Amino acid sequence: MPHPTAKPSLLTLPAEQLRGWLAQHGQPGYRAAQIRRWLFERRAATVDDMTDLPKTLRAELAEAFDLFTTEVVKHQQSDDGTEKLLLELSDGQRTECVLLRDDRHHRTVCVSTQVGCAMGCVFCASGLDGLDRNLRDAEILEQILQLQHLLPADERLSHVVVMGMGESLANLDALLSALEIVTSDEGLGIGARRITISTVGLPAGIRRLARTDHPYHLAVSLHAPNDELRNRLVPTNRGTGIDAILAAADDYFDHTGRRVTYEYVLLADLNDHVEHAQQLAVLLKSRNALVNVIPYNAVSELPYHTPSPAVTERFVETLRHAGINVQVRYRKGEGIDAACGQLRRRAGAKRLEA
Ligand code: SAH
Repeated sequence: MPHPTAKPSLLTLPAEQLRGWLAQHGQPGYRAAQIRRWLFERRAATVDDMTDLPKTLRAELAEAFDLFTTEVVKHQQSDDGTEKLLLELSDGQRTECVLLRDDRHHRTVCVSTQVGCAMGCVFCASGLDGLDRNLRDAEILEQILQLQHLLPADERLSHVVVMGMGESLANLDALLSALEIVTSDEGLGIGARRITISTVGLPAGIRRLARTDHPYHLAVSLHAPNDELRNRLVPTNRGTGIDAILAAADDYFDHTGRRVTYEYVLLADLNDHVEHAQQLAVLLKSRNALVNVIPYNAVSELPYHTPSPAVTERFVETLRHAGINVQVRYRKGEGIDAACGQLRRRAGAKRLEA
């Protein structure tokens, strides 16, 4: 079981700091690249795996830095190639992350940014018990690397989606720090265009994200075409409102040139009527937008249902006829509780103290 420690993480240590540390320990400069290759390409699980480093250096590194602080406590695989990990953090909290495979050879990981969530979306399993804490940058990065370690040596991760537990923009500093390593050529080298950050719609966070150096792909979880309905489904909307969210998303597009995706979880009889699709089309028709329709993934404790395929089709066709770009995101990971927060709830949110 990993133990809480105050050591800095070797995984998120900036390259220049690693070089500085190595110089202080009498090591040649090329060791920094050698170590990073072990971490991000050669998939070392411990410092001792780095067999071409001198033994004393390995001991000094292990003394000074943490490597993996998370431990896999559950690993589930689905017939469609989806794999899900439940990770235990050093304080006994748990988080989850998913590897998705598709027939275009995309290898996508879906990661969490918080333990629990404070947003309270009524249909979502992640927020049922509120927020426990933010994840640290290293804990976000470790999810990605733990999933990378599941791939055969000749396969690389191609995409990252920040759509697991938690509100991404409520833990933006840690997320950006983790993504700095993900995008860096000395890290995982995954381009910002292959990274999607999903948000409930926090306008200040969206504007801040627009001004980073990286054109990440932004997905806004809209789920309703008017404030009256959105206030009910996504309670944080009461403090923001759809207009402010769309204005911030427009700002994101203006700054990055990246088309914004709007996610719309389809909940039977709640937000799936033709009129809802028509209202949504009015909101988005003058915008360069993509709507991602997600049929609800039922959560056993919650009283919400997945619409029939016919209703889903009618919703999508109404948008399409109105000239909106739309796609349906079908379920993956059938049978392994792949929707946010579900595995963690089933397996226990926290380690049981012996
Ligand atoms: N806080 C971020 C990330 C959340 S998870 C956000 O709100 O976008 C990513 C998406 O999955 C969100 O759109 C979320 O509303 C949606 N979601 C949550 N529970 C779901 C469920 N049971 N079925 C389908 N989608 C769900």
